[in-house]
Amino acid sequence: MPNTPQLELAIAERATPLLLVVDDDPVLRGMLKTALQRHQYDVIEAPNGAEAIEIFRNYRPDMVLLDVLMPVMNGYETCEAIRKLDPERTVPVLMLTGLDDVESIDRAFDAGATDFITKPINWSLFAQRVRYALQARNMDFALRKSQHRIRYALQVAKLGYWDWDLKSNHFNIPANVLYMLGIDNGDNLQLSDLLVYIPDEDKDKVERAFIDARDKGLNFALEHRVATSEHNQHYVFQQCDVITDDDGKPRYVLGTIQDISALKRAEDMILHQAYHDQLTDLPNQTLYKDRLYHALKVAEHSKKKVAVILLDIDRFQVINESLGHDAGDMLLVEFAGFLNRLIQESDTVSRISGNEFALLLESVNEMDEVHEVIRNIRQSLYDNAFGLAGEQVYIKVSMGIALYPDDDFNAEGLMQYANAAMRKAKAQGGDQECFYTTNMNRRVHDRLRMERDLRLALEQDQLEIFYQPQVSVNNRKIVAAEALVRWNHPEQGNIPPFRFVPLAEETGLIHALGRWVLHKAICQTREWHDQGHTLRVGINLSARQFMQKDLVQQVEQVIEECGLSPEYIDLEITESIAMQDAENSIKKMHALKQLGINLSMDDFGTGYSSLSYLHQFPLDVLKIDRSFVKGIMGEGNKGEGAIARAVLAMAQSMGLEVVAEGVETEQQFQFLKQYGCHIVQGYLISQPLNTETFSDLLMQT
Ligand code: C2E
Ligand code: CA
Ligand code: CA
Repeated sequence: MPNTPQLELAIAERATPLLLVVDDDPVLRGMLKTALQRHQYDVIEAPNGAEAIEIFRNYRPDMVLLDVLMPVMNGYETCEAIRKLDPERTVPVLMLTGLDDVESIDRAFDAGATDFITKPINWSLFAQRVRYALQARNMDFALRKSQHRIRYALQVAKLGYWDWDLKSNHFNIPANVLYMLGIDNGDNLQLSDLLVYIPDEDKDKVERAFIDARDKGLNFALEHRVATSEHNQHYVFQQCDVITDDDGKPRYVLGTIQDISALKRAEDMILHQAYHDQLTDLPNQTLYKDRLYHALKVAEHSKKKVAVILLDIDRFQVINESLGHDAGDMLLVEFAGFLNRLIQESDTVSRISGNEFALLLESVNEMDEVHEVIRNIRQSLYDNAFGLAGEQVYIKVSMGIALYPDDDFNAEGLMQYANAAMRKAKAQGGDQECFYTTNMNRRVHDRLRMERDLRLALEQDQLEIFYQPQVSVNNRKIVAAEALVRWNHPEQGNIPPFRFVPLAEETGLIHALGRWVLHKAICQTREWHDQGHTLRVGINLSARQFMQKDLVQQVEQVIEECGLSPEYIDLEITESIAMQDAENSIKKMHALKQLGINLSMDDFGTGYSSLSYLHQFPLDVLKIDRSFVKGIMGEGNKGEGAIARAVLAMAQSMGLEVVAEGVETEQQFQFLKQYGCHIVQGYLISQPLNTETFSDLLMQT
């Protein structure tokens, strides 16, 4: 980095200015001293240049009054020596010269003097001269300080600026920007010189942007890479403004450039993390489904089959409990490697959840090929033991298989059927495979029944809302509650939302359900407000609910019915919902915000798409997903804390309130607090509670 002048900031600002008077004539020195002291300045004297320099070095006075004519070392030489100690010229030096001696005045300036005073001294003018010089020095000092701060701020933000003079066609790029990018020679740079540093993939768009700015006066904002060598690549964000001349023709292009490499790295990491399982680094369920969709598209035209094979390690729980969780994790990692070695490169192995894995065979010609893969897995498991915690462990698996086009045409169906088949293999004792057959269709039947039941549930008041407290990290006081819907089924007991919310989505029941939740939760919160507990309420919106045309009116109406001030309402939507139709989502979100409510991004970090889009959503709150929190200081410490930190940093860079979900341990709490999270929610604080219990909790606090 080009060095920043530290010295000037090191100068202590004295309450009373200290002035150094240098003159070989003791009488004049005494008079000068007395005159200055009368104006409340502190004074030190020096009878010759050598002593003056020593004093200057030790005391750094605020000003020097220096006689020109002195024996041994004259005033010019002394002044030059002082300037060696003060190259930035922060200390004014006033030279005392003979009247009208123009030549000596010139020499004084050459030697680095700030001003001169003629002898014999006019004492009334003298005081003014001194005061003026000190004032100028203070202003200069303040200016330097502020410049220093700006420089420092730019450096911290990895931000710089440049300009492009369209007349000379040269770029003017300050040294710190060149340094930031790793460009050595910055003299007389032209566009073509700079384009050399842009990698081929980005070159066209960068060149176009600059040319359009030059020729058409178009401003631009773009992200691209800069690479000065194979090992020195940066991501930058550039923004520019075109300045026109009197005829309206582009004259200058003024730009800012920011190095966003660190942000990009976090983005890449999160992107990878969004599609991979942290423990095994295998593709996760999301990526598996993506690939399955894709494989089905291809298969439509190729007349080949696609096989979904789900594998579940038998008695995994026993291994976990007897050998410990570390051994359990190790087994999962080894098993992942084992499967990877058995399949072809074009096929996919994924970890779906816990001890459940999935294979995707993308282009199957004959059923025999599927049988072959299964036989292979089984045989290899018989032949090979896994070494775990010093023990040799043989494992067995249950497999469920569903095929396109035989069993279903779509991805969800195939996954579901393979799962049903796998459950059957388990139920029959494990260590076997089961192909899906249509009589497993009971599940479909179950779903139809559940749909009917859910309609009834809405009418018969079987739904209930639980509230989970959210507390401030500073004092652990409840500041909000998330409303979580529950279904008390008369026969099946408590049904969790992940089983019936998707069903409600598919059948359109979500409209009624969603409205019910909104109304219930908001009115309940109003009641708490009436009792003196001013907290916010978070309400989840599902995809279809968010798309609903009249959502804004619905929310507005509920607010009116319940009489709760809208600033206490947080509507939670997930990134994937918002991204489905980003343009429309942005509009809808703005319309919702017009009502005065807050918007939260739920499960932040999981459906990760693109930072630039996120910036466009008018959000108030980010809820960091449980999966990131889980990794914090977990056993083995596989760097998941780093990911949580990256997500927190991103959230902060967007300037939003950050809520962490699923906080279960004190360690996680402290970590989140340390890295700038504002609010936490999770079992550490409390499980979701029914209305009565939550009310009791509010009373206690
Ligand atoms: P979500 O919005 O991510 O809600 C948080 C879920 O995490 C809740 O599960 C909550 O009980 C659980 N949880 C809270 N703290 C912890 C913790 O410390 N550890 C662990 N392991 N889990 C914790 P729940 O109630 O089963 O809700 C699941 C999902 O169902 C919610 O996920 C939300 O997406 C959806 N949902 C819930 N209520 C509604 C609703 O009224 N409308 C809609 N559309 N969706 C809802
Ligand atoms: Ca939520
Ligand atoms: Ca969530």
